Amino acid sequence: MEKKRETLPTSRQVVMSGIRPTGFLHLGNYFGAIRNYVKMQDDFDCYFMVADLHSLTTHPDTKELKQNVHRVIAENIACGLDVDKAAFYCQSHVPETAELYLYLNMMAYKGELEKTTTFKDKVRLQPQNVNAGLLTYPVLQAADIILHRAKYVPVGKDQEQHLEMARTFANRFNHRYGDVLPEPIAFNYNQPLLKVPSLDGTGKMSKSENQNATLYLADEDEVIRKKVMKTKTDAGPVKQNSTKPDYIENIFELMHLVSREDVFKKFEEDYNSCTIRYGDMKKQLAEDMVTFIAPIRAKVNTILNDGNYLKEVMEKGAAKANASANATMKLVREAIGLKYY
Ligand code: AMP
Repeated sequence: MEKKRETLPTSRQVVMSGIRPTGFLHLGNYFGAIRNYVKMQDDFDCYFMVADLHSLTTHPDTKELKQNVHRVIAENIACGLDVDKAAFYCQSHVPETAELYLYLNMMAYKGELEKTTTFKDKVRLQPQNVNAGLLTYPVLQAADIILHRAKYVPVGKDQEQHLEMARTFANRFNHRYGDVLPEPIAFNYNQPLLKVPSLDGTGKMSKSENQNATLYLADEDEVIRKKVMKTKTDAGPVKQNSTKPDYIENIFELMHLVSREDVFKKFEEDYNSCTIRYGDMKKQLAEDMVTFIAPIRAKVNTILNDGNYLKEVMEKGAAKANASANATMKLVREAIGLKYY
């Protein structure tokens, strides 16, 4: 039943992404996602959201939800997100999300959801709460994106599989009901999606796991220095131009993110000529991290103290997001055939 449907004209490509309010944001969130939000907001129609509904799948206790939502808003703005350029809103302020989630659930099959890597990880982490929301997490994420008919989704490497699933659901919808929904793609300016490694080299930086090996945008200078200085190193290479062990590669990767190019190159050369002093490298990295994080931390605290401003931001964002969601849902309902007069 292939039917061509009208799609509403948009002058610019649409972008959508979100971050869960489940704790303090960290360097992984910044370099995997927020950095691109800030870059993209000038050239695209951007919808960025605080994914509060998603957080309920893993954090049913909502005692800290409000303060976490406020913090995520403040941290994004402190990093450069401009609420006059992008629509920046809370997921629960756009109720059409839940409606689209329902329709897309009919496009998703139990078997494929059970095979999702993040689902399997979360089952391992919270065996006492394997709820249906956890299973259908990729469907809700697809709904968030498709609700604005977004094409590009700036995310980190961990979201690659979810984006693939969002494309599958959009594609199935189009096949069944007509060509209404664009298929979204993960976006990082044609570069591979990023995974910012944890400081101990055992995984990625994360809001809730591995806290001592994660650098948070809220970390005080001394905490940053301590965390960086504790990273694992060894006696150094003995053969010129040798391959770096993972834990050393991680330190270089982090340096590449925050230090000047010439500083990074100097330590690369030192490594390749077996003259590297890891103590000096870590001191340099710690100072460059402090220089990067301290101004963001200070801005966050100022924004958090202004409750009226936070409310205005949320209201403005919700109005923009609701307008876009309503336009999409009109097309979706008609395409499905939910129109009886
Ligand atoms: P989350 O913290 O899971 O809500 O993720 C919010 C955004 O940050 C998503 O786009 C993730 O892909 C990205 N992200 C989270 N952790 C990392 C990391 N360690 N490296 C790169 N991107 C990340």
